[in-house]
Amino acid sequence: MRRAWCMTPRSPNSVDVAIIGAGIVGASVAYWLTRLDPWASVVLIERDRTFERASSSLSASAIRQQFSHPLNIRMSRFGLGFLREMGIAVEEKGYLYLGAAAPLQALNEMQRANGADVALIQPADLSRRFPWLNVAGIELGSLGLSGEGWFDGPALHAEVLRRARAQGARLIEGEAQGFERDANGRIRALLLAGGSRIECGHAVNAAGPWARSLAAAAGIPLPVHARRRTVFVLSCPEKLPNCPLVIDPSGFWFRPEGRHFIAATTPDPDQDDLPLEPNFAEFDEALWSRMAHRVPAFAALRVERAWAGYYEMNLFDANAIIGAHPAAPNLWFANGFSGHGMQQAPAAGRGVAELILRGRYETLDLAPLGFQRLIDGRPLVESSIIG
Ligand SMILES: Cc1cc2nc3c(=O)[nH]c(=O)nc-3n(C[C@H](O)[C@H](O)[C@H](O)COP(=O)(O)OP(=O)(O)OC[C@H]3O[C@@H](n4cnc5c(N)ncnc54)[C@H](O)[C@@H]3O)c2cc1C
Repeated sequence: MRRAWCMTPRSPNSVDVAIIGAGIVGASVAYWLTRLDPWASVVLIERDRTFERASSSLSASAIRQQFSHPLNIRMSRFGLGFLREMGIAVEEKGYLYLGAAAPLQALNEMQRANGADVALIQPADLSRRFPWLNVAGIELGSLGLSGEGWFDGPALHAEVLRRARAQGARLIEGEAQGFERDANGRIRALLLAGGSRIECGHAVNAAGPWARSLAAAAGIPLPVHARRRTVFVLSCPEKLPNCPLVIDPSGFWFRPEGRHFIAATTPDPDQDDLPLEPNFAEFDEALWSRMAHRVPAFAALRVERAWAGYYEMNLFDANAIIGAHPAAPNLWFANGFSGHGMQQAPAAGRGVAELILRGRYETLDLAPLGFQRLIDGRPLVESSIIG
């Protein structure tokens, strides 16, 4: 049975929706499309089925409610419910933001009004709760009491992809290189490396850190840049009881990972498209002394190993760009998550599926994350970006 939104005749090379990239974002779009409309013909086009360079395999897989924009809180809360529905356990140890009192107080009321379970903690209470923490220079802490923590990101990705395929989405290996368009700018077909083409009613750019070049192939400027982050796996002889994911005001973070810790910071300078190899020098140059200052036991840290992944940084305002550009009304974007894409992929995927199937948002109104703000030059400001 055909649905009103379907636009293409069915043939082996013709689908309702072609999604480019099968990381967590593409998988989530495919999952929601096929869940909301079991008749939808959906294909995921992925050039590397090992996903070894995909951000979804290389993230810190943490989820938080402590954002400065209510929409980011709502998206992450949706993500939390989705994780539970998928049967993915969340280690709910919370995020602990450390810093100046005024900005943390200003955020707390708004976060709580939006359902976040967060508490402000004075330095003396921080020392009692976390005796291993040096609170020198810290005016206040903001701790997530529930609904924040970390999870197995690759397991979430694998599960969403598995369910999308079980619901009928097809995963094919291939590299999208361009688009065939009609006189109105609508996408008619995807052009793949090797010369094949797939006709589609809709196309979705879910190419993660590589989304900009795909957008450029459709003539659309997308300010999403691949920025390398090195994550260090560290061992420490001392245990840190109840350790949350700590955000230091100097710009690094750490959290427990099994019997180790993982940590990272924002490189300076932060350049585009560096090779996807860890920068081991960063630990001595930019991390170790700051970590040992905040947690004296970290003076004895040892680097066990490290990995590198790309943040898909939206240099316009460090928030996701979701929706279509007026120049190509059936090419949908879900890009530029800037360090919070694992937790936002469930909401983003549902939103894109609703736009395609129903022509409007029904669950969460993600319109503020649309292209219009870029066209108008009005950034959606999110102050709580983790480098
Ligand atoms: C170090 C690090 C830590 C992070 N920590 C967190 C965190 O704690 N919490 C959080 O929520 N998020 C975090 N993130 C961000 C999160 O990982 C990403 O936002 C998310 O994984 C993006 O998913 P994606 O599907 O868009 O991209 P990807 O997972 O990169 O998938 C894109 C896919 O598209 C494919 N592709 C690209 N171009 C083409 C093409 N032309 N044709 C065919 N296939 C193509 C690629 O092969 C790839 O598999 C972190 C990221 C990094 C790097």
